[in-house]
Amino acid sequence: MPGEEMRRLQLERLKRQVAYNYARSPYYREKMDAAGIAPADIRSFEDFTRVPLMTKDEHRAVQERSLAEHGTPFALLACAPPEKIVRVSATSGTTGIPTLYTVTAHDVGVVNEMHARKYWRAGIRPGHVMIQAVSLSMFTGGLPLSDGIQHLGACVVPVGIEGGTRRVLEFTGLTRPQALIATPSFGQYLIDECEKHTGKPARELGFRRFFCVGEPGGGNPAVRRKLADGFGAKVFDHTGGGHAFHGISCDEPPEEYKGMHFVSEDHCVLELVDPRTRKPIELSEGAVGEMVFTFIDWEGGPFMRYALGDLLQVWTKPCPCGMPGMRFKIVGRTDDMLIVKGVNIYPEAIRKLLLEFAPQVTGQFRIRLSKPGPAVEPPLRLRIETTEKNTGDLEKQILARFRSELRVAPAIEWLAPETLPREAHKTKYIEIQED
Ligand SMILES: [Zn+2]
Repeated sequence: MPGEEMRRLQLERLKRQVAYNYARSPYYREKMDAAGIAPADIRSFEDFTRVPLMTKDEHRAVQERSLAEHGTPFALLACAPPEKIVRVSATSGTTGIPTLYTVTAHDVGVVNEMHARKYWRAGIRPGHVMIQAVSLSMFTGGLPLSDGIQHLGACVVPVGIEGGTRRVLEFTGLTRPQALIATPSFGQYLIDECEKHTGKPARELGFRRFFCVGEPGGGNPAVRRKLADGFGAKVFDHTGGGHAFHGISCDEPPEEYKGMHFVSEDHCVLELVDPRTRKPIELSEGAVGEMVFTFIDWEGGPFMRYALGDLLQVWTKPCPCGMPGMRFKIVGRTDDMLIVKGVNIYPEAIRKLLLEFAPQVTGQFRIRLSKPGPAVEPPLRLRIETTEKNTGDLEKQILARFRSELRVAPAIEWLAPETLPREAHKTKYIEIQED
């Protein structure tokens, strides 16, 4: 659907959804009343930004209050009556009490359709067999994902990850799948271990598509290259579990990855806000901000201006693949954000800028703080690995790029290659050393 037509559809659905949320959820009503905004006041997307944001901590608190006051976790936030709620999912791996997502039969249909859209775009058709090697328990990428694959008409083998590598390989041998859904780190592990278990390299397993899920590694060119070469497969990054925010990358070479296509615009309004001021940031080419989403065709527990603490970068210019709509990439957590002289800085932005100078830099660096952020006493101190003996020119060029691109002037400490520890999963770029 062309952009303008999509915005019209979104606005129409948004108005209807906000009225529904207000009428059905005591909590949303309380929240909107307190902010002095009624559903009838919302005539534009801008009006809608007057509805206060909701965080995961707040979600958890409402859930607990609901349990204490009403004897059920759903009474305050869920909009559908109990007899319409057919599934509960929960967040995975986060700290504290899990936050629950309530889903009706209608919502199951939405999730199924979004999953089917993603895999269809990636070339999956009825007749294809897909191995689902992710955690199946509660996690939104578990059972809802199996359902979505079946909805498309393809065949899912929900082997899960609980049985370990051996079980995944056993069922791969038995069912001859064309596609594997797994975390990028499990994919890399499988490439390294396959020969030991099966006597043949991972390329011979027959996978022609690898779908990254659950980790940011699917957006990393080096990881994508290893998966593509190791399996002899096309690599797709995708996201979206048991709810209405879904995206999948298109079929591009690993090095040209720019993010995932947002495939559920008709079900979800996406906004960016400044993590500090909470003011809206325009969705323009390359913009970075905290992701805020709102479901607009949802019955169970519709999210309304929900801020998950993820930092998102968006691209709004047309993708060479020809698919319409914006693309996005999760570039970190808002907890990673730093503020130097009023300027927001993200480790991911520093990493990307330094990569421009490879191979003179190895890509390994740390941000050294004397106390936890976000506020940083200038200058911003960076420790950067370099292969150069004489760093004078390099430093000048890097400082110029930092000034023009990120609007800060860091103090650089140069390190020899291999000085910084390599971390297998997610590198922590910030180190705190009290003076
Ligand atoms: Zn594309």
